Amino acid sequence: MACRLRVDVRQAQRDAGLVGGVEGRLPGGAAPSYDVRSEAPREAETFGTMRSRLETTGLLDIADKLDAGIRLDLDDGTRLFACPDLLAVGWLANREREKRHAGQTFFNHNIRIEATNVCVASCLFCSFARLQPGDDGAYTLSLEEVWDKLRARQHQSITEVHVVNGLHPDLPFDYYLELLRGLKRIRPDVHLKCFTAVEIAFFADLYGRTDEQVLTELMAAGLDSLPGGGAEVFAERVRSKLCHDKCGTERYLDIHRTTHRLGMRSNVTMLYGHIETAEERVDHMLRARALQDETGGVQAFIPLAFHPDNNQMRKLPAPTAADTLRVHAVARLMLDNVPHIKAFWVATGVETAQTALWFGVDDLDGTVQEEQIYHMAGARTPAALTTDDISRLIRVAGREPVERDTLYNVVSMSA
Ligand code: SF4
Repeated sequence: MACRLRVDVRQAQRDAGLVGGVEGRLPGGAAPSYDVRSEAPREAETFGTMRSRLETTGLLDIADKLDAGIRLDLDDGTRLFACPDLLAVGWLANREREKRHAGQTFFNHNIRIEATNVCVASCLFCSFARLQPGDDGAYTLSLEEVWDKLRARQHQSITEVHVVNGLHPDLPFDYYLELLRGLKRIRPDVHLKCFTAVEIAFFADLYGRTDEQVLTELMAAGLDSLPGGGAEVFAERVRSKLCHDKCGTERYLDIHRTTHRLGMRSNVTMLYGHIETAEERVDHMLRARALQDETGGVQAFIPLAFHPDNNQMRKLPAPTAADTLRVHAVARLMLDNVPHIKAFWVATGVETAQTALWFGVDDLDGTVQEEQIYHMAGARTPAALTTDDISRLIRVAGREPVERDTLYNVVSMSA
């Protein structure tokens, strides 16, 4: 099944005239991930074919802008979403992906811990949260239970622990500080990517600190970087309907700004596939791009697919695979200053994530392990993958697996 995918993806692109022919796509003369030399005559022919196809689909001026290093704007982005030729959009995104990373595809060996799902907020898309302790399905792990999750994996070469939680009204700040300290005591070398900007804002309000004070105290306890969750859609129209009672857009962006100023990195996400418009998606990407212009601290942009099971938006359909491919492709094209576009395979599905590696994506997140937020929303993806699983999935999709740490230092090229 997986082997067929490689043939199918490459063959589909060949049939559509989309493989190869990308001038200057391998920076610094780096070797391509597959031998394009034997395809050279076809490559030149393909590029000519592609230009006329881009002209037909109305995307040639966007291709020319990209070639000239001119940034795409809101109008360009909405046209990329409206263009019926998804493969042409994917071809442009793949070209940008290969200019930056050739065939390399990154992933890491990580574990997720969601220490509590008790949350005072009422985001309509959320299947994870429970309003109060004692509600059906509500849980809060003791610190020993949190630490046991890492202790149980002492034999694994995990490089990152990713912690996100509900907004619990009763836990003391010391719970989170000690959670970090304990994880570092168990594995001093592990990178702690913990607490969304929404959680940071909540801590500040609950414990009477500024956002910067919260970040500084968490850093002193072991925090290394921030995940990108909580961004949802930046447009106020969407935010006021979906998640009116948590940290707003300006504060989310400002917390990331402060995070970068304090010397840490972060990611930015976007929850897509519900009530947002194409313009609002592009606007979201442009706000992330502006943040990156300012600070340079964003490592990856991560589109997150809306899942409708077990939440208040269950009447909406989940986004299609075609929409998922397009969102990732447009993100690669709009976010010219963000190094990595990540497909979170838990949310997209494994096969769509593999295909996205030809639509602008260069990162598949990691082994994940223990993820609950998407699985409670109906995700049917595996609970975890091993590093060997991910390497194989990347290889059969025709790309080169590179195990990285959180900061994109290479751990292994042949994992
Ligand atoms: S998305 Fe986060 S903040 Fe919103 S209800 Fe769920 S756990 Fe709470």
